[in-house]
Amino acid sequence: MPHHTEFSAVFVLLFVHELWCFQHLCPFRDTVDCATRRAGVDFSRSLPSIAARVLAMKISRKLVKPFLVEDGKHFRLKDHDPAHTAGVKTKEEANQLLQDGVAQLAEHQNKLYAQNSWALLLIFQAMDAAGKDGVIKHVMSGVNPQGCQVFSFKAPSAEDLDHDYMWRTMKSMPQRGRIGIFNRSYYEEVLVVRVHPELLKAEKIPPKLITKDIWKERYEDIRSFERYMTRNGIVIRKFFLNLSKKEQKQRFLARLDRPDKNWKFSAADIKERGYWDDYMQAYEDMIRHTASEDAPWHVIPADNKWFTHIAVAAAIVDTLDDLNLSYPTVPADKLKELQAARKLLEDKKK
Ligand code: ATP
Ligand code: MG
Repeated sequence: MPHHTEFSAVFVLLFVHELWCFQHLCPFRDTVDCATRRAGVDFSRSLPSIAARVLAMKISRKLVKPFLVEDGKHFRLKDHDPAHTAGVKTKEEANQLLQDGVAQLAEHQNKLYAQNSWALLLIFQAMDAAGKDGVIKHVMSGVNPQGCQVFSFKAPSAEDLDHDYMWRTMKSMPQRGRIGIFNRSYYEEVLVVRVHPELLKAEKIPPKLITKDIWKERYEDIRSFERYMTRNGIVIRKFFLNLSKKEQKQRFLARLDRPDKNWKFSAADIKERGYWDDYMQAYEDMIRHTASEDAPWHVIPADNKWFTHIAVAAAIVDTLDDLNLSYPTVPADKLKELQAARKLLEDKKK
């Protein structure tokens, strides 16, 4: 029965291909019970398969979607538990997931850089001690520093205050092919400035323009800015590290108790803690008005640092996955050039 034989051969080939992709190409693949690994099968790299996509979707459903806010209309902070761990039980499990995530991220970043077309901007906002610095350190640990641009936004300088509030942001946007990281951002303009309205006065805006609608107007301007950037190929993802007030207290106490953490302690942070409820209200309102499909917020549980790291890594991998990045193919004339170069090298004796 020749038909049967052909069918079986094709089926076996497909099956082997799927198994290979399952092991090699899916995000966080090492945590998956993988038949090929147990069997010791080792193939070389090939194209992503359906199995890899299915697994990526699973990871996305577990570690990304629960924290993703693309439409803020009904967003309520109290629906998000800062101690949530999505079924990941131990630090060891999380470490393995993080390693896989970091490796995936590095691979994506190489392609992003090689293509030199898309850029990715990651924005981190949080209360003090939520772990922004740690996230940046751990999640970006595998990426090539050449392809990464990090900016920390502190209180604006005198020069900054002589301009509109987006001025310093425009100068810091990532170049094409790069990953830009904002440790705090223009969102402070609807957070700390809202909680402390005296800061608005320092911005030297003509008083006539400061009305009760100012925050709504800022949300609108931020949405427009992000739409503009998105339409230019700068992909924006925003992270709110959602820390509980109780855990913040523990982390502040650790900064007082432990000599290796003393340097991190700041009396100003304790003062800001006194405005906790105002900040939470400002964060909630901000997410409600600035979450969009193009530039969504990820509300990441931050009471367990190990979980924060894997949830952020998963979100970034998920985003880059969706861009379907690939290495640029070399045009025919360039290929000829490469062949000529090879010939030249091989012709020479040394
Ligand atoms: P860390 O404490 O880990 O070093 P951080 O981001 O808290 O990180 P700080 O120097 O402690 O850094 O604080 C920066 C301060 O600058 C924050 O209190 C923030 O609210 C403030 N800030 C940032 N942007 C603005 C802004 N546009 N207007 C006013 N204050 C701002
Ligand atoms: Mg601080």
